[in-house]
Parts: sequence; structure tokens; C-alpha cells
Amino acid sequence: MTSSAPNIGFISLGCPKNLVDSERILTELRSDGYNIIPSYENADLVIVNTCGFIDSAVQESLEAIGEALEENGKVIVTGCLGAKEDRIREVHPKVLEVTGPHSYEAVMTQVHKYVPKPEYNPYTALVPKQGVKLTPKHYAYLKISEGCDHRCTFCIIPSMRGDLDSRSITQVLDEAKRLVDAGVKELLIVSQDTSAYALDQSKEVQNKTVFWNGMPIKNNLMSLCEQLGKLGVWVRLHYVYPYPHVDDLIPLMAEGKLLPYLDIPLQHASPKVLKAMKRPGSIDRTLERIKKWREICPELTLRSTFIVGFPGETEEDFQLLLDFLKEAQLDRVGCFKFSPVEGAVATDMPDQVPEDVKEERFHRFMQLQQEISAQRLQQKVGKILSVIIDEIDEEGIIGRSMADAPEIDGVVYIDNVSQIDVKVGQIIQVEITQADEYDLWGTC
Ligand code: SF4
Repeated sequence: MTSSAPNIGFISLGCPKNLVDSERILTELRSDGYNIIPSYENADLVIVNTCGFIDSAVQESLEAIGEALEENGKVIVTGCLGAKEDRIREVHPKVLEVTGPHSYEAVMTQVHKYVPKPEYNPYTALVPKQGVKLTPKHYAYLKISEGCDHRCTFCIIPSMRGDLDSRSITQVLDEAKRLVDAGVKELLIVSQDTSAYALDQSKEVQNKTVFWNGMPIKNNLMSLCEQLGKLGVWVRLHYVYPYPHVDDLIPLMAEGKLLPYLDIPLQHASPKVLKAMKRPGSIDRTLERIKKWREICPELTLRSTFIVGFPGETEEDFQLLLDFLKEAQLDRVGCFKFSPVEGAVATDMPDQVPEDVKEERFHRFMQLQQEISAQRLQQKVGKILSVIIDEIDEEGIIGRSMADAPEIDGVVYIDNVSQIDVKVGQIIQVEITQADEYDLWGTC
């Protein structure tokens, strides 16, 4: 990099899906010869990629914009909150430009307007072939689609990110291959709704044979997963909506083509609450499916998220949720207290649950799930697990088993550091010696 290239400050907020958008913009910036710098001070322009999912995220985004304006002054805003330009301009009238999510082209046009693209660009070659990644080199998020066709009543993502728009299968596989060729050992498949991949395309397009790497493939999720499974790296599926065809993916997990890990947000267990949320409602059917999945793939790790305190949730509904947790014995569970989001249908529903009740249910939920998670992790003690190494320092080695997604799940601490020679990204066998409700400890 040279001091003559313009400097762009970049702030990325929000979820992994937004992180993928950030990586895309950063790759374009580097391709155009801009320097990316981690401070406001010497930046010629600052881009803030915002999140607008819940009110606290909106607040965080507005604060980040405020700080960038104060410290630098030349700020453009993009991302989910950008879909609500008025809300941003009301608080920060001085932002230069605002765009919504996945507006890469528009963001680049704006950057060119305020900070002209360097004419001679010897740095293009410095852009790694796989693009700029914000995650450590050994794992990467791979976004397979944008938007969502569902209309869950607590969510405003479809109004911000639009309807489902799947990337072409060859484009996704090309990106996956580039990442793997560049050293990535774990692909984290993300989207708003991974199981809906390609369903936005006509039946004709979905059934059409296309060729990738000389192989005839179909334009659907199954084909995508089969091909990803041949790349020889860990492939982890996130945000899988509980469609019936998810059942077809479990054999791929049993065969070791995909990680035996399913991140499937179920949100609730009471049919009444699920109906109000506009989510699939048959919890008995879900329990049956979970049982069947575990028969096919006993190693399967199930992660899910739930919302407590949704409008109209009674104590009886909440009990159904606790009963479901006891029965389903999920491995990893996240819980959110219902938080009204401006523009979401549920925000204006009657029978809002008081905050103290939400809080109390949240604690009861977490207490029960912690016991379940602890018991399930305890069953791993004495087993030998494959562990991917994330960090090595003088204090020890930290890795993750197939059951642990980066950032959201637990880790495996490996004790006998000095006796082994490993590298970050390497997959090793670890004997588990100890467990608590989140993490594991082991030796190799
Ligand atoms: S499936 Fe997910 S992204 Fe789509 S509307 Fe529901 S919660 Fe929002």
C-alpha cells in the first residue's frame, strides 16, 4: 500500500450475513486501489455498514454513525438500517449518502463520487483471489442467497432485504472453490433462509442440468450441498428454516459430506404462538422429525433459537415451550426476549407481555436449557473428537469440534499445549476430559 492511495475507514456491524456484505464491499474497494484503514483519523471517507434487526442494533448503528461523523465527518451509510433513510437522517442529517442492504454497486458509485478512484492501480493484484475476508483465514462465510419469502411477524428483514434472491449455483460453487483453494478449511453457509435456496427460481430452472467442474448438477439445495461436500472441507449450514425437504440433508450429514450440524431456528413450541409468528406450527411433527434425524445421524448437533414473551404468550404457552425443550434435548440453544421492532407486525399486536414476565421466562428457559446442554456435553467426556484449531498462544490452544460454530457456540480448550505441534486451521483428534454447560476440555 502507498500513502498516495485514498484511505477508506470501514465499520461493519450486525450478523454474519452483513459481514458477507462487508467483505464484498471491501473486496471491491481493494480492487479499485483504495486502502482500508482501521481508524477514522486519516480516512478520506468512512463507510458504516449497519444492522437494523432489533432496536438495540438500531441504536448501536446510530451511535456508530454519530461517532464516525464526529471523528471524521465524511460518512456514507449502508446495510439494513439504510433501508430506513429517514430514521438515519432524522438523527444524523449530515451523512453524505444512505443505501440499503446489499447495495455494493451503489456504495462503490458513492465512494467514487466523494473519493475518486486512483487512476493507476498497481494494488489490484494485492487483492487475494478469494476476496477480502473479515473472518480468520481458515473459515469463511459463504452467502448463498439474499432476502426471504417468509413473513414472520416479529421480523422486518424481508422489508429491508427484499424477497428471496438466490445466487446461481455455479457462482456459489466457484466462490466456495476459490475459498478452499486459498486455504479455507470450513465453509459456513449463510443466508436469511438457507433451506429455501433456489426456490425463488421456476421449476424449470431448478430442474435444469448445469455443468460445474465438468459435472452435471441441478440448480437446487441438495445438489449444492452434494458439491460443497466434495470440496474436502467442513461445511456447516446456518439458518435452516424447518421445511420438510430439510430431512433430505440429514443423510448427507450421516455420510460425512456436511457437518452433522443443523442450525434451525424454531422460535417457539406453542401452536398458538407459532401461528401468531407465522411460523410452521406442528411441534409434534418437529419432535418426530428430530427423532428421525437422530436415528439417521446420531452425531447430529441441533442448534436453535427461540423467542420468549411474544405478544399473547401465556404461561401455558410458555410451559409448552419448556416441555418441548425437555423432550427435544437440543444441543445448543439461543433465547431472545421478544423485542418490538419498528415496522414489524408483532410490534402492534395486542397482549404484549410485560418486561418483568419476559425476564422471568427468559431465566427459567435458560436455566432449563443450561442443564440440558451441560448433560449433553457431559456425554462427550471420554470421546475422541475432531477439532479445528482456531487460536494458539502461550496460554493454550483453542479449537472447535464439529458441534461448535465459530462465534456462537462453545469451544474446546486443549491442555497439553507444549507437547503438540499444530497450526491454526489444522484438524486434530482430541480426547475430551471435561465439560461444562458450554465448553469442552481435552488432550491429544
Ligand atoms: S424466515 Fe427469518 S428472515 Fe425470513 S421473515 Fe422469518 S425470521 Fe425473518
